Amino acid sequence: MKLLLDTLRNIVGTTALLTESGDLAGYVSDWRGRYTGKALCVALPRDTEQVCELVRACVAAGVAVLPQGGNTSLSGGAVPYEQGHCVIINLSRMRRIVRIDPADNSMEVQAGCVLAEIQAAAIEAGRFFPISLGAEGSCQIGGNIATNAGGTSVLRYGNTRENVLGLEAVLPDGRIWRGLRTLRKDNTGLDLKQMFIGAEGTLGIITAATLKLHPLPSAHAMSWLAPVDVDAALKLLGMFQAACGAQLSAFELMNANQLDIVLKHVPGQHAPLVEAHPWHLLVELSDTCDHARLQDTLEATLEKGLELGLISDAAIAANSTQRQTMWKLRHSVSEGNKKAGIGLTLDTAVPVSMVPAFIDEATRAIEENFEARVVVVGHLGDGNIHFIPFFEFDTWQALPDPAKTAAAVRRAGHDVAARLHGTFSAEHGVGRTLLDEMRHYKSEVELDMMRAIKRTFDPLGLFNPGKLIP
Ligand SMILES: Cc1cc2nc3c(=O)[nH]c(=O)nc-3n(C[C@H](O)[C@H](O)[C@H](O)COP(=O)(O)OP(=O)(O)OC[C@H]3O[C@@H](n4cnc5c(N)ncnc54)[C@H](O)[C@@H]3O)c2cc1C
Repeated sequence: MKLLLDTLRNIVGTTALLTESGDLAGYVSDWRGRYTGKALCVALPRDTEQVCELVRACVAAGVAVLPQGGNTSLSGGAVPYEQGHCVIINLSRMRRIVRIDPADNSMEVQAGCVLAEIQAAAIEAGRFFPISLGAEGSCQIGGNIATNAGGTSVLRYGNTRENVLGLEAVLPDGRIWRGLRTLRKDNTGLDLKQMFIGAEGTLGIITAATLKLHPLPSAHAMSWLAPVDVDAALKLLGMFQAACGAQLSAFELMNANQLDIVLKHVPGQHAPLVEAHPWHLLVELSDTCDHARLQDTLEATLEKGLELGLISDAAIAANSTQRQTMWKLRHSVSEGNKKAGIGLTLDTAVPVSMVPAFIDEATRAIEENFEARVVVVGHLGDGNIHFIPFFEFDTWQALPDPAKTAAAVRRAGHDVAARLHGTFSAEHGVGRTLLDEMRHYKSEVELDMMRAIKRTFDPLGLFNPGKLIP
């Protein structure tokens, strides 16, 4: 291995090859601290050519490669296993915004660009890049693409997949695929970028991307409201969609348990409503029209909801500071949950119409069988509900076999989602956490097709082995 490490050091330079265990710590554990593995080293390439040389050296030595972005994966996808025989290629030094083309509504970036920096650069150019999630200050666009990240604006703008126009990637055979197109239409055969989107680093390393930009919304209207129950929340979704169409840009749900956790564990947060309520919705409208019109639509729809008895209480953001405060609260849920106990976050999605049945049935399945309270937070607008059986630290530590309990809890919730034609993995990726679920719920035909694609790209099985594909 010394020979390989010397070769890698020659490629990236001494300071960009980390081998000391102290230096590796932040790269071999996940954000929640649930997995800690080992790696031979972490290589920090400067450009695509260096990624290419690193890949060639690792493959020639028969050593596994783990592509890594901001390491914010919630499914153990970006950290190595305990055996320690892999090289982590972390893209954080490749963070250049290469160009923004307002006429094409496109932006070319290196894969290590942090999502928040991409959002800010788009705004500076008078455009909007819509992917938004709690980890946006540290996750990278390469990781967002590799996991097909969702977040809070999928309802209006789609997943990451819908916002990528082209890609550049280093293949496991060491070649570079230069597919940085900005076309909206291109029917020249298979759309190869789709292979890498959501592949979780198993088919190659994404080194750059061209992204789709949108008109920058200049007007926003937002409300934090309490629907009487989840059925009412669903009816309100239909009412808002009918009243504002594409102006509806977020429709986020959480229960009282989730709100309480954030208020208690994340400093500086305040309850948006005076009274306690079992359910909460954050609703945002945005557009390029004038603010007053948007605000009128919001208020008229809220009034209708109140008249129909669907809403118990509502607050409207009076200015952009109040709007940011509401978003901060929503984006703080993962931070609060990490501090509050052990939350087994299910990343389930069901058809939107099935959300009330899913929450109801999954709650019964958990409360009847486990000593856990149910925390719910989700993107109701697209049916992606993070259903979180939540254990106090003490209860969790007292369990005879926590891993077995975690598997049983997941299976109980996932069975409900499957019965309602849903999925066990909507936006966080499969990583290593959900490998058993891939075996259990995916058909043999689907798994065979995935394995065939994997063999074609990576016949030696060296790219992020043991993740995504069982
Ligand atoms: C507080 C918090 C909130 C979150 N909220 C959301 C949310 O609302 N929606 C959502 O979808 N996710 C969410 N996540 C999960 C996570 O942020 C996303 O999965 C994100 O897209 C991962 O980006 P990353 O750069 O951190 O990737 P990493 O964690 O580093 O990697 C994730 C996967 O992508 C692969 N990968 C990374 N970079 C590359 C590359 N350049 N080429 C090929 N493969 C690569 C890795 O091998 C791994 O399999 C949240 C996480 C946190 C901590």
